Amino acid sequence: MKYRLSKKEKIEPIAPVCRKEAYFTFEDAQAMIKQIEETRVTRKIRAYQCNICGLWHLTSSQGKQ
Ligand SMILES: [Zn+2]
Repeated sequence: MKYRLSKKEKIEPIAPVCRKEAYFTFEDAQAMIKQIEETRVTRKIRAYQCNICGLWHLTSSQGKQ
């Protein structure tokens, strides 16, 4: 009997090179955004792929950075 980790497992941010929460996939990042937006009022959040660690980070778009 083989066990596979469920994709529904808690998404845990890992510690990448850059010290921001990062997600392995765009989908993971999106799931996190959804969760955040459902649980609190926040600015619009979007995911972007980091060109340093290659993972996905979240950023809130608020005009200028
Ligand atoms: Zn990064």
